[in-house]
Amino acid sequence: MQVSKIGIPRTLAYFIYFPLWKTFFEELGHEVVLSAATSKAILDRGVKEAVNDACIPIKLYHGHAAALAGKADYIFCPRLVSVRSHGDFGTETFCPKFLGLPDMLRLAMDDLPEIIDVRVDLKKGKDELWQVFLEIGSKLGNSGEEIKRAFTKAKKVQREYQRLLYQEKLPPEALELIEQKIPVPKKDKSGGSYDLQVAVVGYPYVLYDAYINAGLLAILEKEKVKVYTQDMISDREMNRQAKTLPKSMFWYFSNRAVYGALHFMQRPEIEGVIHLTAFACGPDSMVDRLLEIESRRRGNRPYLSIAVDEHTGEAGVRTRLEAFVDMLRYRRNRK
Ligand code: SF4
Repeated sequence: MQVSKIGIPRTLAYFIYFPLWKTFFEELGHEVVLSAATSKAILDRGVKEAVNDACIPIKLYHGHAAALAGKADYIFCPRLVSVRSHGDFGTETFCPKFLGLPDMLRLAMDDLPEIIDVRVDLKKGKDELWQVFLEIGSKLGNSGEEIKRAFTKAKKVQREYQRLLYQEKLPPEALELIEQKIPVPKKDKSGGSYDLQVAVVGYPYVLYDAYINAGLLAILEKEKVKVYTQDMISDREMNRQAKTLPKSMFWYFSNRAVYGALHFMQRPEIEGVIHLTAFACGPDSMVDRLLEIESRRRGNRPYLSIAVDEHTGEAGVRTRLEAFVDMLRYRRNRK
């Protein structure tokens, strides 16, 4: 078997599945090459390469993929269709831009390494996942035995990552703990030195990319705000929230943002909900309106929507956050 370098763009589903992917490739004996954290250069390159009307996360993905050219033998860009059984969630899929992402990359750039675009469609059940990994491992020249071992280890590491998220760690911190192989610590119930608790929901690739959201989470942290996101909520609770709506959306990440927000709206200690949305995102135009209506319907919870695009600056985001946080404190004091 030849050792291959697998390039992984540090955006989109990276924030959710990186431990699974990385462990799998490394256990097979391959090398993982991750693009650098988002920067102006990466964003500018993405804007240049992607079609004009793409949303900013897709433009950014192009920039990250371009940054891997010449550094990897393959780019891992799975065609994410669905990750859970359709029985419970109707016809839920990933947003169409995820489905066409490998094709968009190929059409946009000639100098990219070969793309591993295995189709991930788990609507028939979780066993499909094994077929996905078998296909990837076989393509890289690994034996069935090696693939099985790597798959088992990868799932274990992914579960540890998931546990960290459920313990209210944000993905950047959880990824670091996993990377350093630090055992999962016990949940900190002290509440820390925060004096306000706020939920921030949105797509993981917007929430956890500090460049694209102009450091939103760090600004809140500085304001002594404890942040909760939808990725800290169990699937079981997500499913419970889904049942409180007459109908779900079609898109996986949109549904997670909605169910997460609904969950936080019923927790009295969460004093406000922020929806971080991406400019030019079709699904978000519905998510945003739905959350606005539901925040009024479910206890009149203060709700703020912030849209980010390639021109978003820190000053604009900071001003809006500070005003929102001040309003929440004022509201609490009046009570
Ligand atoms: S859900 Fe919205 S932001 Fe995400 S890839 Fe699709 S269009 Fe872009």
